[in-house]
Amino acid sequence: MNQDAARRASIAGGKVVTLFDLTGRVAIVTGGNGGIGLGMAKGMARAGASIVVAARDQVKNGEAVRALEELGAQAVAVQVDVTAEASCRAMVQAAVERFGRLDVLVNNAGTTIRKQPEAYTVEEWHLLLDTNLTSAFMCSQAAYPAMQRTGGGKIVMIGSMMSIFGASFAAPYAATKGGIVQLAKALACAWAKDNIQVNAVLPGWIDSALTRAARRAIAGLEERVVARTPAGRWGTPDDFAGIAVFFASPASDFITGAAITVDGGYSVQA
Ligand code: NDP
Repeated sequence: MNQDAARRASIAGGKVVTLFDLTGRVAIVTGGNGGIGLGMAKGMARAGASIVVAARDQVKNGEAVRALEELGAQAVAVQVDVTAEASCRAMVQAAVERFGRLDVLVNNAGTTIRKQPEAYTVEEWHLLLDTNLTSAFMCSQAAYPAMQRTGGGKIVMIGSMMSIFGASFAAPYAATKGGIVQLAKALACAWAKDNIQVNAVLPGWIDSALTRAARRAIAGLEERVVARTPAGRWGTPDDFAGIAVFFASPASDFITGAAITVDGGYSVQA
């Protein structure tokens, strides 16, 4: 092997693996039964990982597992409500019982409610905080001992353009997505000693169930997003396969506390 090839490869258990190989790795994806989460799960499955699809809707969970199995991956569904601490802990336990280890946690589950700030109830505020932010803290806390035991791990947070910008119709959502980037940085600092890297992905406008309703409800949104995005299109869940593999694999071993936009250039357009 020449020097370049050696730099691109590492030795694990006597076997040469590429920097992006996830063979033998086990990944939980919360909200992995559709949209961005399933796009990330498919990317990691193609790279060799076994996947735990963790969300509430068992019908969608089952469909996602079948799609991942069709890619040749091992996959299981675990019914999880990420707003409940016991459910988050049971999710990690189920992953370890089924696959014997946990290497990657993608905190992707999320939701939104769009209205002007003065119109939210406190219950709606708490629902968004619980689903988008507290959930990521609880799942990461639950995953930590399993990752520590096997000598390291990867945690990926899903932020948003609202991690960077504000929006009149998304006060609590923006608060959660700003908070999740800061949570990633704090966990990155705390758990570097355990060889756990914690990073965030900030999606632009992506075609999913979450945004389909907004596209129908908000006149001109479809066109405004395309006009503002240098890539000239909405993103798709498949656009998240690459960043998932990168953040889950040895390729990102010296990257922690980072937030990377996957937005077709939306956030750099003046
Ligand atoms: P989807 O609505 O397709 O996905 C949301 C996922 O979260 C679903 O799989 C849902 O599954 C799961 N989920 C919601 N609440 C819970 C809960 N309490 N417990 C467990 N799972 C839950 O939307 P996206 O794919 O677009 O969203 C994924 C992430 O990406 C979210 O964090 C979102 O904020 C973020 N994002 C999306 C953008 C976009 O343009 N689409 C832009 C920026 C960020 P189930 O209902 O079965 O539980």
